[in-house]
Amino acid sequence: MKRKLLCVVPAVVFALSAWADAPHWTYSKHGGPNHWGKLDGAESCKLGKEQSPIDIRKPTAAKLEPIPFAYTPAKAEVINNGHTIQVNLDGAGGISVEGAEYKLLQFHFHTPSEERVGGKASAMVAHLVHKNADGKLAVVALLFKHGASSAALAPVFAAMPKQAGEKAALAANFDVTALLPQQRNYYTFNGSLTTPPCSEGVKWFVMREQQSLSKAQITAFRKIYAMNARPVQPLHGREVLASEF
Ligand SMILES: [Zn+2]
Repeated sequence: MKRKLLCVVPAVVFALSAWADAPHWTYSKHGGPNHWGKLDGAESCKLGKEQSPIDIRKPTAAKLEPIPFAYTPAKAEVINNGHTIQVNLDGAGGISVEGAEYKLLQFHFHTPSEERVGGKASAMVAHLVHKNADGKLAVVALLFKHGASSAALAPVFAAMPKQAGEKAALAANFDVTALLPQQRNYYTFNGSLTTPPCSEGVKWFVMREQQSLSKAQITAFRKIYAMNARPVQPLHGREVLASEF
């Protein structure tokens, strides 16, 4: 079968073999989270002491500044990357953290939410991934429970490609500001990427106010990815702060 493709459409074979060469990991069984640490360059998944996600319990109340969100409507492409649905953004603005500008690159989803609050997961979470000029990452997590549908996310859910490797451009510019909750208190802590290579040094901000997605929206995502959440990781003495303003 592959040989036949090679003769007829070499471009397709190239795309397929590039796909097959990517490190193989999943959310269950042999490729699952307990085995990620064995992947090349992914030792942090097993040995790291500041891993994400976490269960947020008894955070310390702190006088923190509101996150200065400065997002702008931007071109968006919805991609099925084989592990989640991701929305890549071009020129979407960003946030500033401790005086440094972090540009918003993409957001993507997990179900159920990876982070837990008081032991409880939400139906889904969106991770907004930002990067500064030094390559440092900051992630803002938006939790979603079952409820009314999200109008802001409707164009994304309508465009989700069903097959890994497929993508679809959104017709209109996407405004990430519309995804933010009204009340913007947050939890913050140091963590990591929640997928291999589980790199640490990531600043996490989990917004406390949950928003909602309809059953139809959650089901549409779960038809593509039924479960794509890493289990919660040990705190190893990390402090979790809760903003109060
Ligand atoms: Zn994520």
